[in-house]
Amino acid sequence: MTTTTLWEGSASQIHDGPGGYNGVEATPEWAAEIKRLARERGATILAHNYQLPAIQDVADHVGDSLALSRIAAEAPEDTIVFCGVHFMAETAKILSPSKTVLIPDERAGCSLADSINAEQLREWKADNPNALVVSYVNTTAEVKGLTDICCTSSNAVDVVNSIDPDREVLFLPDQFLGAHVKRVTGRTNMQIWAGECHVHAGINGDELTAKSKAHPDAELFVHPECGCATSALYLAGEGAVPADKVKILSTGGMLDAARVTKSKQVLVATEIGMLHQLRKAAPDVDFQAVNDRASCPYMKMITPAALLRCLLEGKDEVHVDLEMAKRAQKSVQRMIEIGNPGGGE
Ligand code: SF4
Repeated sequence: MTTTTLWEGSASQIHDGPGGYNGVEATPEWAAEIKRLARERGATILAHNYQLPAIQDVADHVGDSLALSRIAAEAPEDTIVFCGVHFMAETAKILSPSKTVLIPDERAGCSLADSINAEQLREWKADNPNALVVSYVNTTAEVKGLTDICCTSSNAVDVVNSIDPDREVLFLPDQFLGAHVKRVTGRTNMQIWAGECHVHAGINGDELTAKSKAHPDAELFVHPECGCATSALYLAGEGAVPADKVKILSTGGMLDAARVTKSKQVLVATEIGMLHQLRKAAPDVDFQAVNDRASCPYMKMITPAALLRCLLEGKDEVHVDLEMAKRAQKSVQRMIEIGNPGGGE
């Protein structure tokens, strides 16, 4: 089938360059064309909170990874266009194996998910044959397939507490979330993989303390469902900022808190894409990033050009081996059943 576009010449503008596909601007014509192509393909567009504002604005649904995966499973459309990073699109595919899942640029990875691969996990398990594996949701489908229980940061403590106290636990891949869980549970038989998200390196203790001192009346919102903010979660627990000013919130909770806050200024410890939704929810509040360089370059690879290419060409399709998907689904299902899993990153 030949696709005739109403927006002539748009496809020829797309080119592959540093940082992904570019050459197309997010104009109202672009947005109209995206909507039209999505309808033509019978697709629904999902965008993660860390996406560029233009991508968030053109999407049918915006949210965190777990919420979007649930929406993908329940959507009447057979095609899901997942604007986020690759492990998130894989999780959507794991939960909806019969649907076509597209990601606008399959090179959009995640440094935290990439900090452990299946081979490394197999070796770690072989060295600890009686241990149970708990994986944060930022992992590849293959690693999820080798995992006993996945967790989000909202239910990581509950997940670890649900395991027989005499059983060894292997926790991966986020060392900050692991350290937080170990401190809260007081568990000694828990090994932690030394993985991290490079974006959170920007949200370090000095920066957090300095920003909090410079704005003593501001509240601090921490979104722990993100590798880039787990260090903030850890530091808040260490007393780096006054406890009464800190709110640890899921994305939904953060938006609710933004609507009712009495503070004129709120510091936000998360990836900066989240500021777009917060400013829309509470335009009178001055939201400031703890570090405005905390931007995930992988998330920003989903450009207007990449989304246009995706809808024009039906690329890139996400595939997960069926057997692996079944095993991964089990570990994700157990995650959903324990405590309150929140929304994933
Ligand atoms: S912010 Fe960090 S954890 Fe989140 S997708 Fe980007 S690299 Fe991965």
